[in-house]
Amino acid sequence: MPPNHPRPLSRRALILRAAAVAASALPACRKKPAAAPAPPPWFLTPLAPPPDWSSLDPFQDSLTRDAFTQLLNSTLTATPGSWFTHIQITDAAALIRRASRDASLPPYSLRFAASSASLPKPESRFWRKASELPPLSNPAKPLADLRIAIDPGHIGGPWARMEERWYRMGDASPVQEGNLTLATATALRPLLESMGAHVDLVRSSNDPLTPLRPPDLLETARLSLQQDGTAITDRALRRESERLFYRTAEIRERGRRVNTILKPDLVLCLHFNADSWGGDPANPRFSSANHLHVLAHGCLLPGELTLDDQRLESLKRIIQGIPESELALCNAVARRMAEATSLPAYRYPGNSARPVADNPFVWIRNLLANRVYECPVVFLEPYVMNNADVFARIQAGDYENSREVAGITRPSIFREYASGIAAGLADYFRAARSSV
Ligand SMILES: [Zn+2]
Repeated sequence: MPPNHPRPLSRRALILRAAAVAASALPACRKKPAAAPAPPPWFLTPLAPPPDWSSLDPFQDSLTRDAFTQLLNSTLTATPGSWFTHIQITDAAALIRRASRDASLPPYSLRFAASSASLPKPESRFWRKASELPPLSNPAKPLADLRIAIDPGHIGGPWARMEERWYRMGDASPVQEGNLTLATATALRPLLESMGAHVDLVRSSNDPLTPLRPPDLLETARLSLQQDGTAITDRALRRESERLFYRTAEIRERGRRVNTILKPDLVLCLHFNADSWGGDPANPRFSSANHLHVLAHGCLLPGELTLDDQRLESLKRIIQGIPESELALCNAVARRMAEATSLPAYRYPGNSARPVADNPFVWIRNLLANRVYECPVVFLEPYVMNNADVFARIQAGDYENSREVAGITRPSIFREYASGIAAGLADYFRAARSSV
């Protein structure tokens, strides 16, 4: 079905959509009554809920001053210390600015633990560290008792062109990232289950999870363009409302499902990378590039740290101790992905991502999809979809065992991708869990 003609919604979906619109409307976009109250103090990313700083309350006394400061420097911002503008460290607590538009609001005070012995209680977060899982009794099942959510990136299918995750080379089948990630998830699930994991797919079709659609988001799009200082034209409004639908609203809905329903110990975000294919996706350019990288969360740029929702979401991850587990998982998976794919490491230009020590495949970057999930996330970006070799492998589709594709005998690209992840998780949990 073409993207501009979404299928009719059921009554339940309409109710959900109305509720979501009401819940997500920014205070700033409400019509002001005659006696207008003061404007909200929050400075927010579009569709983000106003920050609830009390959500940090369960994590009071969780980290020592040194551990907290070290995490701020090593992960939160692009350069160590650039968080000073919003967080003040005293001996007893971190004083965190709550609202970027109102300096008079008292800061949120996050007390430090007296010693590293007083760690957060497991019941204050839904995910478990490897050390908190039951000891392993069967070496063949290193993922026993582990809950894993696989998030196949993007939506795909009829939405792939709108998402700009679609190209077609001649008469060949179109390449659609959202379909490739779902095929990889389908190959990965049985591998993880065979090692004892309980696995959920965050999505299992090419239907959006959010009940919102671009026409619902025109007013939010107008505000978003204003906030960015972008000229408001019909075309800009349409593109922004589409982006808010397929990226922002969709990822926020996935975050809600992960955090409130699935509650996994870790999320695997599956993606395929792409290089510029020129202006016409029906007549694209091939790229000679092909590479791999894996992302952990962090590296907020100054403008992102100023957004109250992003500051809170990022600190909530830090205070739960997510970065430590997440980086270790990313390292283990990246090593095995490099082995499985033989791809070189990607290097980010500029300062939107920061490298980590000892692993050229792992980078730290602030994405909505690794920030809103309140548990460790391994965000994978292997293969350049418009590389000629990758294109040939995608056209070959999924198959068992090995087959010659573009002159090389090898597994299907989906099974190769899945095998690298599975081996990396097996390495990590074998080493990090105790045995009976
Ligand atoms: Zn992607």
